[in-house]
Amino acid sequence: MKCKVCSREVSDEGFCELHLKAYSNILLKFEVWKKACDVSWSQYLVQIQKNSLTGEWAKDVAKQLIKEERKDV
Ligand SMILES: [Zn+2]
Repeated sequence: MKCKVCSREVSDEGFCELHLKAYSNILLKFEVWKKACDVSWSQYLVQIQKNSLTGEWAKDVAKQLIKEERKDV
């Protein structure tokens, strides 16, 4: 199985080791954001993509998660 974002081998949750790390960071930061400004998961993902301070790895993961969110609706 390949990573949902790149073509590396999957480590867990459908992500490779590097994207999984970015994914856990996204989850961690979301907890902080939620408390600070009551932002929704999808709003938060959009913010990550817009934020120039966010690393490329996190942006890739956010993009993928947004795609999945839209598929669910
Ligand atoms: Zn990857």
